Amino acid sequence: MSDRIYLSSPTMHGEELKYVHEAFDTNWVAPLGPNVNAFEKEFADYLGEGVHAAALSSGTGAIHLALILAGVKRDDIVFGSDLTFAATVNPITYLCAKPVFIDSEEETWNMDPAALERAFSLYPKVKAVISANLYGTPAKLKELSDICKEHGVPFIEDAAESLGSKYQGRQTGLFGDIGIYSFNGNKIITTSGGGMLVSRDENVTKKATFLATQAREQARHYEHKEIGFNYRMSNVIAGIGRGQMLHLEEHIALKKAIYFRYQEAFADIPQIKMNPYLKDSEPNFWLSCMTVDTACEVKPLQIMEAFDKENIECRPIWKPMHLQPVYASNGFVKATDGPSVSRRVYESGLCLPSDIKNTEEDMAKIIGIVRGCFRK
Ligand SMILES: *Cc1c(COP(=O)(O)O)cnc(C)c1O
Repeated sequence: MSDRIYLSSPTMHGEELKYVHEAFDTNWVAPLGPNVNAFEKEFADYLGEGVHAAALSSGTGAIHLALILAGVKRDDIVFGSDLTFAATVNPITYLCAKPVFIDSEEETWNMDPAALERAFSLYPKVKAVISANLYGTPAKLKELSDICKEHGVPFIEDAAESLGSKYQGRQTGLFGDIGIYSFNGNKIITTSGGGMLVSRDENVTKKATFLATQAREQARHYEHKEIGFNYRMSNVIAGIGRGQMLHLEEHIALKKAIYFRYQEAFADIPQIKMNPYLKDSEPNFWLSCMTVDTACEVKPLQIMEAFDKENIECRPIWKPMHLQPVYASNGFVKATDGPSVSRRVYESGLCLPSDIKNTEEDMAKIIGIVRGCFRK
């Protein structure tokens, strides 16, 4: 069997090891330490706008803390993206609050501002809004954050998949009151596992760090006035992150080349469309995705099965939260009474292999398999 072609696997460069060695040489094999501080600073500097960053053990943990910092408590309503990975909204449930899912729009597949407006008219008391930038594509972030401001509700941006993406010239993750990122194994840069929480307000990132280190008060004895968590990033892991940051722009350029390679290769098949993005946005192109016209007799499952046969990894589009059994009784709001956009995207789409280590040969093979499905 030929070598497996991956969806998006870690790409290491060697510099990561230099920082990890430093951690070993100085015996900073503990949470906190010089790599953590430096990673936070380098990450914040990359984003710009004088933002502050707190390095955490996962993106999910970062979302959990962001919701706490937004004041979310038991029985509160929180609006969340419908078309996303479950980690965007599960932490709402950790807090015994209730997620209500907001449908996607067609232009970016992300939270629809019109549906969000409608949701605010249906649910008078809302504690926070969390919206993801799917597959690295910025949502209509200005519109979403303006609506949240109008209603005086904190906006949390789940930029786990969109590090380095820009909307109207600004980095994703900076449009909300709090932004979060993930460094899980398949993200655009990885530390094997990890996350970051950012805010313009240093008090917010300081509080996040405090809660992430067991909410231990400054006292010689172990004094606790709040419930804390063990969510801090370790100094070894932060070393990997520092090395990866040096290659973020290179990863984005390679991801972008993959997207345009696919787009060009499928240009003559009108039933195929690549995942869309807005003209005033610059996605990081984390994953290249395609949809097949629903009227077409070729179905995504057929393409995925053809990939499976050739040992090529691919993935369906995230299954919308309103279709998940665990969230069957939660609210779901669409912009109109018509069909759900997120459901249509889910049912007609798939994620194409987007690994930056894939060779030209691999790309030709992947493209050949897709084109083969459409040959009569
Ligand atoms: C990966 C991901 C997360 C979770 O991040 P982890 O670091 O894996 O906990 C959250 N939201 C989205 C949209 C993601 O893709």
